[in-house]
Amino acid sequence: MAIKVILDKCKGCTKCVKSCPFTAITMENKKAVIGAACTGCGQCVDTCPFGAIEKADDGKEAADLSAYHGVWVFAEQRDGKLMQVARELLGEGRKLADAVGCELCAVLCGSEVDGIINDLFEFGADKVYYANAPELKQYTTDAYTKTIYEAITEYKPEIVLLGATHIGRDLGPCLAVRCNTGLTADCTKLEINPETKGIMQTRPAFGGNLMATIVCPNHRPQMSTVRPGVMEKAKREAGRRGEVIELHPTFAEGDIRTKVLEVVKSAKEMVSLTDAEVIVSGGMGLGKAEGFELLKKLADKFGGTIASSRAAVDAGWIDHAYQVGQTGTTVKPKIYFACGISGAIQHAAGMQNSGLIVAINTNENAPIFDIADIGIVGDLYKVIPAIIEEMDKVPQK
Ligand code: FAD
Ligand code: SF4
Ligand code: SF4
Repeated sequence: MAIKVILDKCKGCTKCVKSCPFTAITMENKKAVIGAACTGCGQCVDTCPFGAIEKADDGKEAADLSAYHGVWVFAEQRDGKLMQVARELLGEGRKLADAVGCELCAVLCGSEVDGIINDLFEFGADKVYYANAPELKQYTTDAYTKTIYEAITEYKPEIVLLGATHIGRDLGPCLAVRCNTGLTADCTKLEINPETKGIMQTRPAFGGNLMATIVCPNHRPQMSTVRPGVMEKAKREAGRRGEVIELHPTFAEGDIRTKVLEVVKSAKEMVSLTDAEVIVSGGMGLGKAEGFELLKKLADKFGGTIASSRAAVDAGWIDHAYQVGQTGTTVKPKIYFACGISGAIQHAAGMQNSGLIVAINTNENAPIFDIADIGIVGDLYKVIPAIIEEMDKVPQK
């Protein structure tokens, strides 16, 4: 739909200019002019007291929604290894597919990564769309977008899910723009509306202070990126098999505008908070960067890893790769120690689904105790050495 000003009716009152959330309206010769930034939200239509703005059909055909079927999951792989988030998406995708009454499919891109196909079936995919090409060995925006966009155009999935990883966050919006559809980024919950069979996508909004549920009623596919570590992983059903549909992408000169010369793994990639079974996390209560050495000693006792609050990252005590929370990593370890962390909503958003939460804090009113299974009121510099001392008394097997 396009937004139009009926010039004869416009009285030049400028109310619409103030009402536009996208600053898309300017005044020229005392008449409102809609600019290129207009998203078609319709706010100005209701604001104009003179009925001078209207929505007009811009001739674009509405998508034939009934032509779209199936839930697709982007099976992200790196170096031939399936990313954990793909397994989580298959777990969630299965629930959605069952609620809609359609099949669950995985889209796998890479070069000679056939070994992953059976894993995808065993994690619940009914079909695997497989694009095997040397150009897809390393992720590039152009190659992956072209391949998956062509597959979406041909096979018309109803729902497409991607992990909110660096790759998913790059690929998802490119696909959504090509497909002329919407994308909800960083979802933490997905449900099917039983009446419309459309997907309800929930994600934190306004700095995590409220949860927004977003729908995509008029366009297909409905697309979401989903935070790693939030959804339940699909259970493996050994020997389960399905249908492989080969995609045959072709790339002309200039289709791929970037060339990967070398892949350098940063410290960030080597920190695997999402896979850790025990996490010992520290915040401002540590008082200094060296405090993490004590946390490391406790983490080592469990074969776990350290992590942190954002405030500790902002203080320069530890790399952002270790940050847990809304703007960090979402984790679900078996045990999460929160040491000197107050438990702000943005931190809790990233760890509250942990199996057992142990909080150590000097302030008995700290909000972390509201979500902790075990709360220890005390100085972490006394409590943690005491825990380590007790653990040392247990004979090693
Ligand atoms: P503080 O709130 O300062 O808490 C320190 C705690 O240590 C206190 O409870 C204190 O009682 C206790 N303490 C002090 N000394 C000791 C001691 N010796 N022994 C034991 N306890 C002690 N935060 C995140 O963590 N992750 C995020 O992803 C994140 N994203 C954000 C996104 C947005 C948009 C915004 C606005 C904020 C975000 N934050 C995030 C910041 C968040 O709001 C908090 O500011 C932050 O989590 C506080 O960190 P903290 O608990 O380490 O520090
Ligand atoms: Fe014109 Fe209506 Fe905008 Fe006023 S609100 S400037 S009348 S279009
Ligand atoms: Fe602005 Fe929305 Fe009106 Fe477009 S439709 S001019 S974005 S208020």
